[in-house]
Amino acid sequence: MNEYYLELKYIIAGPSCNKLIRNGAILIENSEIIAVGKSAEVKSLISGHDKIERNNHIAIPSFINAHTHLPETLLRGICDNEKLLTWLNDYIWPFEMRMSSEDAYYGALLGCLELIESGISGFIDQYFYAESIEKAAKEANIRALLCPSVFDNTPESGSLENTWKHVSNLVRRKTSDKHQLVKYGIGPHAPYSVPEEYLLQIADLASEHNLPIHIHLNETKKEVEDAKNQFQMSPIQYMQSIGLTDLKILGAHCVHTDEQDMSIMKENDFTVLHNPQSNLKMSTGIAPIYKYLDLGIDVAIGTDGNASNNDLGMLEEISTSAMLQKYLANDPKVIKNSQILTVGTIQGMKALGEPSSGISKGSIADITLLSFERSHSWPQNNPLSNVIYSSLSSDVTDLFVNGNFIYENRKHKTLDKNEIIEKCSKISERILTEMGK
Ligand SMILES: [Zn+2]
Repeated sequence: MNEYYLELKYIIAGPSCNKLIRNGAILIENSEIIAVGKSAEVKSLISGHDKIERNNHIAIPSFINAHTHLPETLLRGICDNEKLLTWLNDYIWPFEMRMSSEDAYYGALLGCLELIESGISGFIDQYFYAESIEKAAKEANIRALLCPSVFDNTPESGSLENTWKHVSNLVRRKTSDKHQLVKYGIGPHAPYSVPEEYLLQIADLASEHNLPIHIHLNETKKEVEDAKNQFQMSPIQYMQSIGLTDLKILGAHCVHTDEQDMSIMKENDFTVLHNPQSNLKMSTGIAPIYKYLDLGIDVAIGTDGNASNNDLGMLEEISTSAMLQKYLANDPKVIKNSQILTVGTIQGMKALGEPSSGISKGSIADITLLSFERSHSWPQNNPLSNVIYSSLSSDVTDLFVNGNFIYENRKHKTLDKNEIIEKCSKISERILTEMGK
């Protein structure tokens, strides 16, 4: 049984991350936060709880990385400066075609190490080899919503027809597996890469088992123009026209949207998975999330895969996101500190299908502790501002997932870091040699 008493310099509490508690404490029992408040008050409730004191630290709700392709850790740094087609044809696809399920498993383990070290308690993934990623997530003991990719010519199952056979069988099989932390959805790659007949079958399966659909939408200008030529409407409008927006949609990117797209997003069970750094690096644009948030559209934040972002850290992603929105709106008031932290944490949990009210009594105990010891965290005039605009993922010292203490004082308690990095370095080297790079 998990029983922890955490004593901290600061806590960012409440369902909107807008309550600062100084000299605070949190009491955890099993997977739940049973008390939060001033340490003098919470202390009176202790009865044999493990005591963890972090006197120069702040507790925040854990981040959710809401859009990943986790085994892409193996592709880190192989191509930073090419246009999309060269990037895909000469680097990403040739690498992925040489990846085995075991390679993907180790790549996913490396991803889990990085997520944990960055204070992230769960991720929403879209990739092939979903069972390898599942195995890694279960060993790491973190949350995962795995949405096996459906598209043509995957290294796991080849043609679109075979991939759909594999994914539909897998997803059907997994719906009866009620794992606490790992769940399944379906991941059609995008409307331009998955023909309508398959999208309709995916919709039937999703509706039958009440599964979310995780899909790339309106990412590039060209994709939107092509859809307008092919279907006389944008990808999001096309999704609505064939009935897919009647289901829960996790739409990655949504960079180029018009008013009609936004009204579809607003009226349906639609969550935008916003990936600001990947969009900048691939030169695709800036998603106007301040408009989405204003309209009441759900937004969560992810990093995208390591091939297009290079790291999985969320502290860097939320500050980038907030700064881009200020720039885009030409208004520094457009996004508040508590709002962007809520989007990166509590809204991510909602997208993952685990409603949370952050660090509040009765909420799930997914908690990240950050050190405020390094120079960039002084002075502490506004601890929440220090979290958003001056903290780094490397400041994360501890992580609780579902009440389990899986990262303590920068030491992994579930994974063997040395073995994983050694194995992944060898895999990457082998594949790059095969590619002649
Ligand atoms: Zn993606």
